[in-house]
Amino acid sequence: MADFHKADIEKLIDGVLPWPATQDMLKSAKDTDRFDKYVAIMQERVDFDEEILLPLTPMLFIVAKAGERIVQCRCGHAFGDYRVNWKLSALIHVRDDEKSMSEVYRGREMPDPAWIQLREYICGGCGAQLEVEAVPRGCPPDFDFLPDLDTFYSEWLGRPLPDKSEFKDLTLDRVAEWSE
Ligand SMILES: [Zn+2]
Repeated sequence: MADFHKADIEKLIDGVLPWPATQDMLKSAKDTDRFDKYVAIMQERVDFDEEILLPLTPMLFIVAKAGERIVQCRCGHAFGDYRVNWKLSALIHVRDDEKSMSEVYRGREMPDPAWIQLREYICGGCGAQLEVEAVPRGCPPDFDFLPDLDTFYSEWLGRPLPDKSEFKDLTLDRVAEWSE
């Protein structure tokens, strides 16, 4: 099993690894150690001290905080329970007319604003754009990734997390609370 150095993984993340070395890393079997090295690199780069359980994107992380598992931006801004789509707690900028869409699309690339809207999800802490989605009008925010953290840690990494949480999408429960 290939064992790559943390410095090489860091170069891969930053896109400064020479192409032959990148190919070598991508083709070889993935070792669990590489996950730990990746998390260690991200942990050094974020502006918070909570332990990263799983990076969702280079900007967003599931972290352990006060006995809970929450989604947090790299700036430390918290989005709440990881089983609720974090987009519900983000600032959302919607482009849904020709004028606003033409700022990001050129000519025929532009989707028909009568059907499609562009949603930009922005961190309320640092103002970073965290995600963009082009979806039909009325479509709920796409829940990109709900990982089974307990199974991942116990079955794949071989070290169960100290606590357990039910693996369940709680997004609709949160939405239901709004109408109470
Ligand atoms: Zn942020």
